[in-house]
Amino acid sequence: MEDQRFELVKCAFCGKAFAQEAGKRPTCPDCLAEEDAVYRKIRNLVSNNPDRRMNVSDVARILGIEERTINYLIENGMFNLSLRSGVISSRLGD
Ligand SMILES: [Zn+2]
Repeated sequence: MEDQRFELVKCAFCGKAFAQEAGKRPTCPDCLAEEDAVYRKIRNLVSNNPDRRMNVSDVARILGIEERTINYLIENGMFNLSLRSGVISSRLGD
């Protein structure tokens, strides 16, 4: 029997405390759909504008999403961010 370790974390979206498997990103089950929606919005914007160099604040302004939410997705490896230029790009090369 596998021994999964859970820890009490605060959801990055709604701030609610919930039990999450250790090492997984802190998005509570209620907010997974929202996280996915935000992820798709950013991915569409970035991949539809390949010639436009957008940083986190550009994306936040255009989509009306909080910068911290975008940073959260970047920190969790859902997007690449060029550290030198600060330009955001879609992780999937599609
Ligand atoms: Zn939540």
